[in-house]
Amino acid sequence: MGAHLAEQRGARLTSLLIDGVLVVDAGGVTSVLSLAQQKKIEAILVTHHHFDHTRDLVTLAANAGYYWRKQLLVCAPRYTLDIVTNCLLDGRLYANFLEYPSKEKPTLILEAIEAYERRTIAGYDVLAVPAKHSVPAVGYQVTSADGKSVFYTGDTTVGISDCWQHVSPQLLITEVAGPDKYEDWLRKAGHLCPKLLREELTRFRQAKGYLPRTIIIHIGNPYEQEIKHQVAQVAQELNADISLGDEGMRITL
Ligand SMILES: [Zn+2]
Ligand SMILES: [Zn+2]
Repeated sequence: MGAHLAEQRGARLTSLLIDGVLVVDAGGVTSVLSLAQQKKIEAILVTHHHFDHTRDLVTLAANAGYYWRKQLLVCAPRYTLDIVTNCLLDGRLYANFLEYPSKEKPTLILEAIEAYERRTIAGYDVLAVPAKHSVPAVGYQVTSADGKSVFYTGDTTVGISDCWQHVSPQLLITEVAGPDKYEDWLRKAGHLCPKLLREELTRFRQAKGYLPRTIIIHIGNPYEQEIKHQVAQVAQELNADISLGDEGMRITL
């Protein structure tokens, strides 16, 4: 639903939707989906607390709470849930959806998910794996009942390869926030450029003996063409299927 670092016409903040029921990161949910589509959402996985990944928790909760009195499960590490609660959801900015419409049956149910913990969420097997970023973050491997699997790293930088030993996805979704010329800045900010992506993916192949189809999101908008060009070079060098994601992209496994 959202594949970019910045929001503008035609580009939204990071958000994925799995089979219409499971949202992963909530940067751009309510501006994409009809109310009928939003009503089908059962749970939201959050990789880390940054606003570009959490913003629509509020707007989605508002629709679920006001229109459908539906409960939504929000899963994230405890650290992430605490910050999101204190900064977004405690009722100062908007209604308190942790207590509305009632404390007994609130709109949002927060559940902490710990690193390396396996959990069944909305019918999927979900595994949280610590990711390298500027703040505590996890990636999620989501596996369907029929064994289809995706690993989404969330925002990440050098060292994400530590994750590879724990996952074996058919599809990898990761990030490139800027082109190679900003490598130093991107490292400091906890992100990847195509050159760093190549190093991490090389380690994936070494560790696992294969490289899954890889989709790049969290794309730095002004640099999209440069990133696309550099990612295409990485794909060629690695002889791998790596491409940029975009809003509205649908992938069937
Ligand atoms: Zn971030
Ligand atoms: Zn981000």
